[in-house]
Amino acid sequence: MPARGTARKATSRAGFGLAWTTLLALLLAAAPSLAAEFEAGVARVRITPPTPSWMSGYAARTRPSDGVLQDLWAKALAVRDGEGHRVVIVSTDLIGLSRVISTDVVARVGERFGLDSSQILLNSSHTHCGPLVWQNLPVLLDLDAEDERAVETYGRGLADKLVGLVGAALDDLAPARLAVGHGAVGFAVNRRVRTPEGYRIGVNPDGPVDHDVPVLKVTAPDGSVRAVLFGYACHNTTLRGDVYQINGDYAGQAQETLERDHPGVTALFLMLCGGDQNPHPREKLSLARRHGRALAAEVSRLMGASLHPVRPPIRTASEEVRLEFAVHTRGLFEEESRHSDPHRRRRASLMLAAYDRGDPVRDVPYPVQAVRFGPDLTFLALGGEVVVDYALRSKRDYPDENLVVVGYSHDVMCYIPSRRVLREEGYEAVESMIYYGQPGRFAESVEETIFAAIRRVMEKAGADRSNPSAASVR
Ligand SMILES: [Zn+2]
Repeated sequence: MPARGTARKATSRAGFGLAWTTLLALLLAAAPSLAAEFEAGVARVRITPPTPSWMSGYAARTRPSDGVLQDLWAKALAVRDGEGHRVVIVSTDLIGLSRVISTDVVARVGERFGLDSSQILLNSSHTHCGPLVWQNLPVLLDLDAEDERAVETYGRGLADKLVGLVGAALDDLAPARLAVGHGAVGFAVNRRVRTPEGYRIGVNPDGPVDHDVPVLKVTAPDGSVRAVLFGYACHNTTLRGDVYQINGDYAGQAQETLERDHPGVTALFLMLCGGDQNPHPREKLSLARRHGRALAAEVSRLMGASLHPVRPPIRTASEEVRLEFAVHTRGLFEEESRHSDPHRRRRASLMLAAYDRGDPVRDVPYPVQAVRFGPDLTFLALGGEVVVDYALRSKRDYPDENLVVVGYSHDVMCYIPSRRVLREEGYEAVESMIYYGQPGRFAESVEETIFAAIRRVMEKAGADRSNPSAASVR
């Protein structure tokens, strides 16, 4: 700790003259805040939708919500280093933010608080028991005009709340120490199962997983814990579409458990690269509680353990790349517009409207961001439902970085398959694109386009790439 070192030197050089004793006392008094090295602020806002509201995540739901099992929250952790570099990390108990909401929030946060897009990280927990989010999964449900208006009203109100939340976290900045550690829980299982008819969603105990539970603890100078940020790479889908009561699934249970067991602590969950991971076992509320308690217990254990101190400076970088889709033709969607599946007909009409405008959907904008805390911790944040291969490859590529690879960040525009998953096909690579209103599978370049952007933002944020690896294809 530089402050303590300075104080010790002052003692040995100065002897015990009155002036020096006074200076020493002043230095010691200043030491706790200097030793903190960061300032941190936390805030929260309730984002539970009015009931009844249409819920997102499952096409099979036939009616709006009929109650609230658990409130939904947006929470923010703001951090500033001694040089004034700032970052705000926002967690939301939502299926996924849309581009219209995230870009609006980022623009307004820029105007009001002077943060650029690299200094805010917006994450969604991907609960399938929350509200439909305006312009996310636009093909999932067929709503009438009145319900569409209600979804838009909630979405616009959500954006207002997120802007206010960021401001509240920045207003709360006060000296803090940051420390990081990693644990593990095992309830995530790879859900892509090879069958004679292709890959199907199920339980694949042999598929790739990432059971890492990263924990960032934020402590006040008096030793009290103010916030804990943690993550896991697993779909927040213990519960199925037969549940009509609003709740945060296992991630909501984990945050609620931590906040109950540690009064005064704000617990923020980040969804990592869980695009092809499901909780196991699942389909019961008791299991969502069990998984949530298991995750909370692991985070609690780490909070009580000796963690690695996080040092400044904060360096952030972000960019938007365009991910290309495989080639498609108008004829494909003219045919699909006569399909028996209404979801396919709705996707076809979106695509034909784009062709009619003379602007067929050939690619999609994609956010990539690095948030680096000195040499001790780096968040690599990616948009969309990112499959686990991206986390595993990033960690191989940057073995000297303490990397947390966060999926579901900013804009959840669709699944993000690796080249391996793209070639294997199945739900994450092909069918899910229907519900997201995208034209179809990505071009083969998707993984390399994203990793090229990862290398650029990591370099801008000061990270060294010392172990470049090949694509995830096997
Ligand atoms: Zn999903």
